[in-house]
Amino acid sequence: MWNRVEQTAREVFGGFGFGEIRLPIFEPTELFARAVGGETDIVSKEMYRFIDRSEKLERNPKIRNLGRFIEKVKHLLKSGEIPEVDATEVYLEHAEESWKKVETALLETAGPEHLLDDIDELLAYIGAMQLGPDLALRPEVTASVCRAYIEHGMHALAQPVKLYYMGPMFRRERPQKGRYRQFYQIGAEVLETVRKEVASGEWLVASAKDAATDAEVIEMVMAYFARLGLEGVQLDINSIGHSAPACRRGYVEKLKAALEKVKDKLGADSQRRIETNPLRVLDSKLESEQAIIEKLPRIGDHLCADCAKHHAEVKRQLELRGVAYQENWRLVRGLDYYMRTTFEITARGLGSQNAVCGGGRYDGLVELLGGPPTKGIGFAIGEDRVILSLQEAGKGGAAQGRDVYIAWMGEKTLATAIRAARDLRQAGFRVELPPVEQKFGKALGQADKLGARYALILGEDEVASGQWTVKTLADGTQGKYSEAGLLEFLRKQKS
Ligand code: AMP
Repeated sequence: MWNRVEQTAREVFGGFGFGEIRLPIFEPTELFARAVGGETDIVSKEMYRFIDRSEKLERNPKIRNLGRFIEKVKHLLKSGEIPEVDATEVYLEHAEESWKKVETALLETAGPEHLLDDIDELLAYIGAMQLGPDLALRPEVTASVCRAYIEHGMHALAQPVKLYYMGPMFRRERPQKGRYRQFYQIGAEVLETVRKEVASGEWLVASAKDAATDAEVIEMVMAYFARLGLEGVQLDINSIGHSAPACRRGYVEKLKAALEKVKDKLGADSQRRIETNPLRVLDSKLESEQAIIEKLPRIGDHLCADCAKHHAEVKRQLELRGVAYQENWRLVRGLDYYMRTTFEITARGLGSQNAVCGGGRYDGLVELLGGPPTKGIGFAIGEDRVILSLQEAGKGGAAQGRDVYIAWMGEKTLATAIRAARDLRQAGFRVELPPVEQKFGKALGQADKLGARYALILGEDEVASGQWTVKTLADGTQGKYSEAGLLEFLRKQKS
């Protein structure tokens, strides 16, 4: 199943001109914080973070070496080899002071007894320093793609750059059906650096080309799901405008004001979000909030002319491509980097966790991460959920069947059996060659258990005459073929 789902993605995405990018499993925490947004759940609560060790410092310095150790920390901090974190500098100052006390006392008095407190304090300061980089297991990959795009100068390649990826992501969420802490995504991104003259001014203007790109990317996911035979697929789209006062920022102000008025009727989560991330209130699934949310101002009525035009063009382009969609004004997506087009796809058989794909446009994200002005659109598919949905629909597929099971009998037939297995495998068939001779009945039983379609029966008569017996296991029919004849027969059956 996993292979089929991934192989199909390679085929379909390849057909749209996408190439694979392989990305690291962990990145600096800062990358995700900046791209995805510090206030989002993903970054503030769900990331698996760790402070890496410093390569330059010994781990457990001896007390008598602490003076030297502190000097070294100071030096590495200055040369930028230790991350510049405020707390480390403060701890370092405290550590130096404590060390002075310890050093003087150690030199001037004999008994170490009363020094223990000072030493403990000192070790605590050292233990609290961040001496290595702050890293996180990736909770998503768009930020990494942008990081790689910048780091490897991909703006100099033919534009746009179209990339797909697949692999594990990590989020500390409450596990349930279709929601895991290590889950797999298959995604794609289209990045296009804008020429300077076009990118002049503070913001990247929407062009008709962008809308066509949005629609093609969505068409590609839908084509992929259709090829897999995913059932009950539904596409929701929306536009969340761009971050200008005359567009989304203005809307968010209005939304906030409207939310303040109904604050006491909202749950604790939504109340908190009025301050931190008001758009996310629209995501709420709380039954008691639904009627209230329906009456809130809608982004569609507050888009600037540019974004409204873009949205209308995306819809026209989807229609041109025969992609059915549903407009959903509450679809805001939880990540900070999205703008204009957002979309989500749901499928059958998944209960409450029924989103199998989320995506949107993120012009400006590359720039935010230190690259040139660049437009971007992408999506991520939840591979685990796609597989669950296919299984739920009875499309789990046979485990690992075989085309041919070779039942060889008599030592003299082994050489022929080995050759037959090699030729059939070279022709692309899945072949099982038992390592030791078996009785006829046992061989057929084994062939059946492995889900083989045919048994090739090789006894001494068959080897002598060159006419091999082939049994079709489903109906028990039998025929005799030369080796070439067998290959032809199997090929015909396969097609
Ligand atoms: P997101 O970027 O959060 O919208 O994620 C994109 C897709 O990844 C979702 O639509 C889900 O199909 C899938 N996904 C996200 N989080 C998880 C998770 N914890 N477990 C399984 N799949 C997930």
